[in-house]
Amino acid sequence: MKIRRDPTDAVFSQCIRESYNWTCTYCHKQFEPGAQNLHASHLFSRRHNSTRWSPENVFAHCFTCHNRLGGDPVTFVAWAEARMGPEKMAALRIKAHMNLKLTKKDKAYIASHYRNELKRIKALRSEGNTGYLRLVHWGET
Ligand SMILES: [Zn+2]
Repeated sequence: MKIRRDPTDAVFSQCIRESYNWTCTYCHKQFEPGAQNLHASHLFSRRHNSTRWSPENVFAHCFTCHNRLGGDPVTFVAWAEARMGPEKMAALRIKAHMNLKLTKKDKAYIASHYRNELKRIKALRSEGNTGYLRLVHWGET
């Protein structure tokens, strides 16, 4: 089933791509800010509410790598596990399978959190920070 993108997905996608400085985390190709051919790529799909807007579940992947890994989930999982380590992968798998119900108000909160995060990391970029900038998870206090 295709999961419809919502406004929270749009701002979160911006955050992910900005946090990786518009670089594909798989092939390391660099893109111009705003590039449409660099995507926010979910390990556990957007069907899982509990990890839909979790930075640890989402990578910046170029169109080519997103297609390749989307069509080859075994490789995607192996790559992500090598990157984050088996403990974080196990925790992410459990989190992804928790049934999280979100209201419209919850989603509006998540969107506003990531709008603020986007402003924060864009400001860090404008101060000359390059490379990966960690996003604060919407549930983090
Ligand atoms: Zn790529």
